[in-house]
Amino acid sequence: MSTLQSYIAGRWVGERAAKPLASAINGRVVAHTHEEALDFAEAMSFARGTALPGLLRTHFQDRARVLKALAAYLMERKEELYAISAHTGSTRADSWIDIEGGIGTLFAYASIGGKDLPSSNVLHEGPPMRLGANNHFIGSHVLVPKRGVALHINAFNFPMWGMLEKFAPSFLAGMPCLVKPATATSYVAEACARLIVDSGLVPTGALQLIIGSTGDLFERLDEADVVTFTGSADTALMLKAHPNLLKKSVPFNAEADSLNCAILAPDVTPDDPEFDLFIKEVAREMTAKAGQKCTAIRRTIVPANRVDAVATALKARLFRTVVGDPAVEGVRMGALASRAQQADVAERVAQLAKSCELLFSERDGFAPRGEGVSDGSFFAPTLLLARDSATSDAHHLEAFGPVTTLLPYGDFEEALHLATLGRGSLVGTLCTKTPALAAQAVPTFAAWHGRMLVLDREAALENTGHGSPLPKLKHGGPGRAGGGEELGGLRAVKHYLQRCAVQGSPTMISAITGEYQRGGAVTESDIHPFRRYFEDVEVGMSLLTHRRTVGEADIVAFGGLSGDYFYMHFDEVAAKASPFGRRIAHGYFVLSAAAGLFVSPAPGPVLANYGLENLRFVTPVAIGDTIQARLTAKRKIDRPPRDDQPAQGVIGWDVAVTNQRDELCASYEILTLVAKRVAG
Ligand code: NDP
Repeated sequence: MSTLQSYIAGRWVGERAAKPLASAINGRVVAHTHEEALDFAEAMSFARGTALPGLLRTHFQDRARVLKALAAYLMERKEELYAISAHTGSTRADSWIDIEGGIGTLFAYASIGGKDLPSSNVLHEGPPMRLGANNHFIGSHVLVPKRGVALHINAFNFPMWGMLEKFAPSFLAGMPCLVKPATATSYVAEACARLIVDSGLVPTGALQLIIGSTGDLFERLDEADVVTFTGSADTALMLKAHPNLLKKSVPFNAEADSLNCAILAPDVTPDDPEFDLFIKEVAREMTAKAGQKCTAIRRTIVPANRVDAVATALKARLFRTVVGDPAVEGVRMGALASRAQQADVAERVAQLAKSCELLFSERDGFAPRGEGVSDGSFFAPTLLLARDSATSDAHHLEAFGPVTTLLPYGDFEEALHLATLGRGSLVGTLCTKTPALAAQAVPTFAAWHGRMLVLDREAALENTGHGSPLPKLKHGGPGRAGGGEELGGLRAVKHYLQRCAVQGSPTMISAITGEYQRGGAVTESDIHPFRRYFEDVEVGMSLLTHRRTVGEADIVAFGGLSGDYFYMHFDEVAAKASPFGRRIAHGYFVLSAAAGLFVSPAPGPVLANYGLENLRFVTPVAIGDTIQARLTAKRKIDRPPRDDQPAQGVIGWDVAVTNQRDELCASYEILTLVAKRVAG
């Protein structure tokens, strides 16, 4: 029975035991919160004065590498975390979501950072746009780390995943975090934070942990800070209305309880595989984590003529779900997180039952297995049937446990209307085998949902599940679901960055963004840029090639080689009648001829050309035109070393192919892998 500690200003705080935290399995005390009040002035001053400058001495790529190393470090120690997580009432599969799902988000953000972010703290969000007729004045956007602190307030259901899914993008963005886990399961978050601190991988102060109350912290938040919140809509409302947050326009991102739905479309019969998929998905969302998932299906919307079939199939599955201490062989569903949650869910089910019929509940053979479970926080899977779908309490009352309500509908439009009555949800599932029904649903459904799973037999082969938020997809939802954004790949990182529009000459914008902008000053390279190693290429280094006059023989040869005899290249009569009025060279010939102009043929540091982006053929090249290419180093992306590859980086080259009148004929960026001079 340890006393949990907060981690503030680089040291662990808390010696005296305060509130006992009970095991959800048997009620025994697992840990105590600490009694000592925290000094939030010190915490904020440490975050701003020590952690922030330390983080800003690193760049996006450095921090991506830290996340990867941290993920590997935690993965090696995951069994310690599973042992602690068992007290929350979770089965191994539930804890997997929390622990390995959480570590997975670190890996995911490490990968996003490594691939999509520069080796600096300025992220260019292009493309730039011309603001003047002659390209002397352009505009673009940059995103830079906010010079503030991220306060993450988390829910009790996923203490580790909840912490890491917010920590990863904010750390990558360069913001120190203060994490406040929900008290009920804070012993899991504390264990994870302790491992992070012990790893020595994260700069001191980048993560501070608050056990218990946030005291006067909200008074201390400033304009550059950010709050993210996961929990109940009521708490979200109270916190986001804090006068200091309003006064200083501190962004408040909320993910609140949402009444997610699953719709069985009218085309699915009990003989279709989609019917079984639907039943399996609903039952899984009821029982995984004992239904304590923000994404769980609370409203099960089914055709009126399928209610009996759905109810029978669901009851059969729920009957087979063994509830109890997950340590007991065969147990598939654990407990709610605390006695308080147990009482809360019971109260809400009682309220729902006033307007519903109880189809399956504790009366149906509910007997949790295991020792001492009568002191635990178990709750029976509960299935209700609304008497009137449109007015049911299920649209506004959330029982945060293994509970769902069947809502019958007449026609499909009614089903979609019922889905909207949740007033905004994190996720919804539509189970159908008809693409036209899916397309019909989207305009209504998507307007009220953060995410939508369309489930059919094909998707089922690889379906990640209605309830699984994926790091690369946005996980927030509108309205009642909080209106926030969580996860979402690069978008989540951008939440912790400040976007600024920059306007100026191409030369200035090149210097600011670290990316060459067409029309900006270039450095004529004395040696061919392809003969330089990655480290030696500077953005703006440029080569103007020799010229080449395109003849009819080129077109004929290219047509013969490629088999492309399109009339614009080969039919004098048809080409004359076309808008160009004459035969022109193949665009792909221009592309190939340009490569012939700028490539340096001998072996060298350029290892491979792996593609091109933003290709446009602008002015056609006619027989007799003379073309020339300008190749300019546009951007550099460093690549972390890998055992199976020579040390290398990516260089994007801006290519402009022009004719004898200086008109732009082709424009694109080629991407090359370039060896580093120094290995490793
Ligand atoms: P709460 O909204 O009560 O708590 C969420 C977080 O806010 C916790 O960390 C809590 O800390 C903190 N908090 C509460 N009051 C304050 C305050 N005045 N100042 C600062 N922080 C505060 O939600 P619960 O975790 O108790 O869950 C209640 C309901 O929320 C559930 O029944 C469910 O409906 C919903 N929920 C939604 C989730 C989602 O992901 N959308 C996830 C979990 C729950 P502390 O624990 O110390 O009070």
